[in-house]
Amino acid sequence: MTKPLTGSFQLMKSLNRSLVMTTIRNEGPISRADIAKRIALTPPTVTNIVNELLEEKFIVESEIGASSGGRKPILLKLNSQSFSIIGIDVGGNTIKSLLTDLDANIIRENRRSMPPRPNAETFLAELNQSVSDLIGSAGTERPVIGIGIGMHGLVNPEEGVSVFAPNLHLRNVPIRASLEEAFGLPVYVENDVAAMALGEQWFGGGQDTDHFICVNIGVGVGAGIILNRQIFRGSSYSAGEIGHTTVDLNGPRCNCGNYGCLQTLVSGPAIAETVQNEIALGRRSKLQPSASGSLQSITGEHVCEAAKEGDELAIESFRKAGRLLGIGLTNMIHTLNPQKIILGGGVAQAGPLLTEPLAETVKERALESSVRHLTIEASRLGNRATAIGAVTIVLSRLFAEPQLPKESGIRQ
Ligand SMILES: [Zn+2]
Repeated sequence: MTKPLTGSFQLMKSLNRSLVMTTIRNEGPISRADIAKRIALTPPTVTNIVNELLEEKFIVESEIGASSGGRKPILLKLNSQSFSIIGIDVGGNTIKSLLTDLDANIIRENRRSMPPRPNAETFLAELNQSVSDLIGSAGTERPVIGIGIGMHGLVNPEEGVSVFAPNLHLRNVPIRASLEEAFGLPVYVENDVAAMALGEQWFGGGQDTDHFICVNIGVGVGAGIILNRQIFRGSSYSAGEIGHTTVDLNGPRCNCGNYGCLQTLVSGPAIAETVQNEIALGRRSKLQPSASGSLQSITGEHVCEAAKEGDELAIESFRKAGRLLGIGLTNMIHTLNPQKIILGGGVAQAGPLLTEPLAETVKERALESSVRHLTIEASRLGNRATAIGAVTIVLSRLFAEPQLPKESGIRQ
């Protein structure tokens, strides 16, 4: 454990409680005695915490274990269906929400379109409605215990404030305060890619990895960074803004004011624009709009479909984006030396069309020592990665760590 242990008694108590819950979650069915041994707490402390958790229905007594001489012990397991969690992925165009149990199994999901050019009030009303829809279906048998939000843009997770949401043109929206007031439940807000990284750490490709990076390539490009099994947010929550690293000095102008930022070259809109420009210059493609259609109606999704159907121009656009992404990721690999890079977001749905040129570029450019242990893979959680991540934010407050170290120094 790397968490400080010098806090108040209350913190120690809740830390021990989450350690007990984590042990039951990871190793249950497990006896009280084995929990005490595993995390080096005294048996009476474990018994007290277990009684509390049984009363609150977080855990249940499951079966009788094997005896090691005396009376056969009663085993405990997590009562994962006893409560639900809401996780919400807030993008520029849609709000995707999930209602899950304590194992992040999906009970219900819904999707709402973002109203065009919302102000803070209409945006919060939309978010509020997403939560209401799901709380209604959770019912009283499985009450919701927390709400996690993966919000695009710059987020202050301590305050639960969306500091800047570029795709909505909103600043300083107090998401946590607003939802906590409306629903009386704990609300946690993280940047969407940071949430995605947490989701991958608990339920996806990051489970057995100490250092990994999630890269989301959609309307924008961003990274969620896990170092030493902890999220790395930077001094002002801006770590991972790789979409604004320069990869072409003479590249197009970015919405941040610079030129040649990675996201001006590899995002969904950037790929669509490459194709639009080539067609305008006379290149033939099945994406050529009919007489009534406009070139501007071609989207990144259209290019992806056309590429999968063998359209030369579309394939070339993804190859070019893959190579440029490879350059951007090589810079990040040389800085952080991760074991794994997990790709998510709409553009990553192109699969090998993007990842093959990407991997070739990384292989050509990266130092051998930096990529010796590196794998690059697509997110196993697909387009739900951020929403599952938002659920995980709540879980990470309940449980200590996804995998508990075998030897823990914590004692009562
Ligand atoms: Zn930029």
